[in-house]
Amino acid sequence: MKRLSIGVRLMLWYVAVFALGELVFGATMFFVLRSNLYDLVDDGAENQIEDLKNFLQAQKKDAPPAELRYEMTRAYSMEHSGDFLAVYLDTGEPLYKSAFLQAHESVLVPVGRVNRRSYRSRRVGNQPFRFIYQKLTANDRVYVVEMGVPADDAVDTLHEFRSYLLMFAPLLLLVAAGVGYWMSRKALAPVDQLVQTARVVGGANLSSRLPKLNTGDELQRLSDTLNEMLERIESAFLRVTEFTADASHELRTPVSLIRTEAELALRRSRGEAEYRESLQHVLSEAERTTKLIEQLLELARADSGREILEIKPVHLDEALRGIFQGWKQVSTVREIQFTADIRAGSTFIMGDETMLRRVVDILLDNAFKYTPSHGSVQLALEQNAQNAVITVQDSGVGISEEDQSKIFERFYRVDKARSRSQGGTGLGLSIAQWIVTQHRGTITVTSRASEGATFRIELPMIAAPVENTQPV
Ligand code: ADP
Repeated sequence: MKRLSIGVRLMLWYVAVFALGELVFGATMFFVLRSNLYDLVDDGAENQIEDLKNFLQAQKKDAPPAELRYEMTRAYSMEHSGDFLAVYLDTGEPLYKSAFLQAHESVLVPVGRVNRRSYRSRRVGNQPFRFIYQKLTANDRVYVVEMGVPADDAVDTLHEFRSYLLMFAPLLLLVAAGVGYWMSRKALAPVDQLVQTARVVGGANLSSRLPKLNTGDELQRLSDTLNEMLERIESAFLRVTEFTADASHELRTPVSLIRTEAELALRRSRGEAEYRESLQHVLSEAERTTKLIEQLLELARADSGREILEIKPVHLDEALRGIFQGWKQVSTVREIQFTADIRAGSTFIMGDETMLRRVVDILLDNAFKYTPSHGSVQLALEQNAQNAVITVQDSGVGISEEDQSKIFERFYRVDKARSRSQGGTGLGLSIAQWIVTQHRGTITVTSRASEGATFRIELPMIAAPVENTQPV
């Protein structure tokens, strides 16, 4: 079943609560009024009974019933107060019974059953009455009195009151429903506005925002939060689009180089040496492409959160010594003086050793790429208060201050041609930065153009794991 809108539900609740309120109020008022009106009628009847008591008191003490009957008939048959009166001796012997009550015996209670004073509302011959039944003592004699009083006024007033209630209650309810509906529509109108805008937000117009509400309430908070979310989605989306565009652009270069090389080689027949050279070019471009694709995949995995690090305690001193040995050969070929300053000691961090090795490899690769022959590269490890500090320092071309802030961006290269000729892709430092950030560390660079560069990584240290501590 289709659920009703919040506006309609609010209105229905409002009407239901209002109707309940009306019902309780109306019923209470009706019963209070009825009790007050009957009290007034009863007061009149009680006064008449008081008069009757005085009358009986004034009779002779030992007057026989016949005399009392005579006196009562004389006094009451012409009086209004006797119109609905019946008086008996408590033996059940009647002293007076009005003609009306004789005609409507059914309203009378058998004398033996009259005890304490009791009141009853009864309708007799189409007329409403209040009846009082009670015992009364006068001149040491006990009488039973049954006295009726017309209650037309009270009942009419009550009827009128009830009609007004029944007439105005639905009207009020109708007004309440209208007001309730209007109020809920007014309160929820901004939601419609939000829905309409939200409906048209898509990939093509991610920059559109929901209307800014100034209601200072939950709806304003909702629209502000949704706008912030859109902001984040938009920038993530832009990053992805930019990344895709850059990646395609980067991939196009080696592919078109391979193609040109192959086309040129096929244009006419050549000697084996020439074919070999062409194939050599094709191979090196293919290798570059493979590296680029691997790096792109790595970043894509990092972005999607699928790159999972295997966090374990890592003995940095050991790891760096291993890396140093690995690069020793390269430094000899490149004629670069390569040194390591790894203080003897135990520097442990929590991390993924393969990933951390990758960061240092990227930095060393860059250092060797951008340092000319006869320059120097140094790998160092030290500790400060809480961190392990790895530095890779070179005496190469350096990085201008302006470029330092950009080199960690994807695809950024200070000198594109130089980077390319060295097999660079512009992605190494972005990958390094992502890995370091995942280890809750920082990576920074200090450098001056043509004066070499120093990359510094700080990673939070841990105490040496028990199995690795040396016995003292
Ligand atoms: P690439 O594959 O081009 O080396 P990176 O992301 O590793 O990409 O580096 C980005 C850019 O930063 C490089 O193209 C280079 O211009 C500059 N760079 C990185 N390391 C050094 C360094 N040690 N000395 C001078 N320039 C560097």
